Amino acid sequence: MDRGFLFGDGVYEVFPTYNKNIFGLDSHLNRLQDGLDAINIKNPHSKSEWINLINKLLSFDTVNTNQAIYLQVSRGCDKDRKHTHGDLKPTVYLQSTSILPRIKDNLLKGKSAISRDDIRWSQCNTKATSLLANIMYAQEAKENNAEEAILCRDGIVTEGSSSNVFIVKNNCIFTHPKSPNILPGITREIVIDCAKNLNLKVKEVTFNKNALMSADEVWITSSTREILPITLIDNLKINTGNAGPLWSIIYDSYQDSKNANRSNSGRVFEKIKSTAKN
Ligand code: PMP
Repeated sequence: MDRGFLFGDGVYEVFPTYNKNIFGLDSHLNRLQDGLDAINIKNPHSKSEWINLINKLLSFDTVNTNQAIYLQVSRGCDKDRKHTHGDLKPTVYLQSTSILPRIKDNLLKGKSAISRDDIRWSQCNTKATSLLANIMYAQEAKENNAEEAILCRDGIVTEGSSSNVFIVKNNCIFTHPKSPNILPGITREIVIDCAKNLNLKVKEVTFNKNALMSADEVWITSSTREILPITLIDNLKINTGNAGPLWSIIYDSYQDSKNANRSNSGRVFEKIKSTAKN
């Protein structure tokens, strides 16, 4: 009778962890809170309680691999299957899966993508568990031996089925601005920070499918896939068909951020513990 199961009535988060350090912890917890607020579910845990739950799950990992923690909060169980609901006790579900290592040398050839019309609803900024359109796109990509489906709404490139999209043109990096049409990806945010720290030009503006196809570089980003170069879309080569120089620079900078997170994580954890509202 769980409404997560019956209706997809819930939100979720995915926390990447490297050697048991949670990367982008505060941003992920904030986005979880935003999602819960958007669908009127009271957060069942304080920040420090969530951190303890995630760390407990990580402690079961004895081989010490990098893990993605999937966390779901559904509205909870009801007595009847009806669309409306009363005040319910949210259900919390957590699981851990190992993250594939993204080794630079293996990514130089890039990945392929397909493009599709974005038919999703107009609240894509909420990380809702109801992912029917997204999984259909992902399946279509898989059946076409592609890494991702890149979506276009009214000619504008929005995002991937489970990633954000970046292009590079004339040494400037472009990505869709935050809006209800995309999920505000945490990796997207980290990539923008990395680029700005390197004094690279970044523009959070919309771009169309022609700009995508004629870009110098295309990347997709997500917490589990990090930053992947896309070098073939709908069987057409992007530029030379290889990962580009800006991807290489941002890849390195992202790896540096992960390592800095590791050495800072004790401090970040203390900071979060002290600011967490209980
Ligand atoms: N857009 C969509 C639709 C996604 O599902 C995801 C991954 N959850 C992203 C973007 C990337 O978000 P993040 O970088 O926070 O993993």
